[in-house]
Amino acid sequence: MNMVGKVALVTGATRGIGQAIAHRLKDAGAELVVTGRDEILLQAWRDQGVLALAADVTDVRQIEALIQTIIDRCGQIDVLVNNAGMTKDGLMIRMSDADWQRVIDTNLTGAFNVCRAAVRSMLKRRQGKIVNISSVIGVVGNAGQTNYAASKAGVIGFSKALAKEVASRNILVNVVAPGYIDTEMTQALTEEQRVEILRRIPLGRTGQGEDVAALVHFLVSEENKYITGQTIHCDGGLVI
Ligand code: NDP
Repeated sequence: MNMVGKVALVTGATRGIGQAIAHRLKDAGAELVVTGRDEILLQAWRDQGVLALAADVTDVRQIEALIQTIIDRCGQIDVLVNNAGMTKDGLMIRMSDADWQRVIDTNLTGAFNVCRAAVRSMLKRRQGKIVNISSVIGVVGNAGQTNYAASKAGVIGFSKALAKEVASRNILVNVVAPGYIDTEMTQALTEEQRVEILRRIPLGRTGQGEDVAALVHFLVSEENKYITGQTIHCDGGLVI
């Protein structure tokens, strides 16, 4: 699935799933732009010849400036992958306002901020592919993750509505909902939790960033002409 001639922006690409998606699109020939906040990790991308721009997805001004820089440097945005995300787990009864708000601001409002800024260029050119990364937790919930589940369920509803708004301009919007993927985000699990999770995954293993990247690659490629507004799980069968 050749991505030559396509400008692809991946948020939260300094680590984990976003990094795997970015590598996949770059290997397929896309003109890749990555964002995150960690300057050292962004520099590692620059060393590979990739346009790596620091931006916090919760900061509207930084996101507007990011998109303008991409348009100035690359001329267009064909593909947007909203992957930046975080967790701040805790039982709801003890959850602070700050922990609730930070997760909603990053995972849900962050996706909105980047979509709103980037979609203008897609509307003008009457083409574009957007993939927003949710989570199976946004579909089935999880004790200790009310903020995260709400943010990720929000991403699904947001994406369905946006898919309907922009479909007439040939812009396709889909959601990928990963299960348990081996990244820094899931490294905090205890051995006991890991064994319990593995027991519940029919394919018998946790996922890798590359598993998610392969699905995202298909959804943003020219092969996908007729799938929009969908939430596709990439979870080894965890949620069937
Ligand atoms: P990591 O914690 O490994 O990476 C998160 C990425 O998001 C980093 O690149 C980080 O960059 C970036 N990021 C976080 N906050 C911000 C912000 N405010 N502005 C800009 N960038 C930000 O997470 P994963 O790779 O595991 O997760 C990636 C996505 O996949 C997330 O949306 C997550 O919710 C989702 N997901 C993950 C699952 C898993 O099992 N790992 C399961 C289901 C969904 P930096 O630190 O440089 O800012």
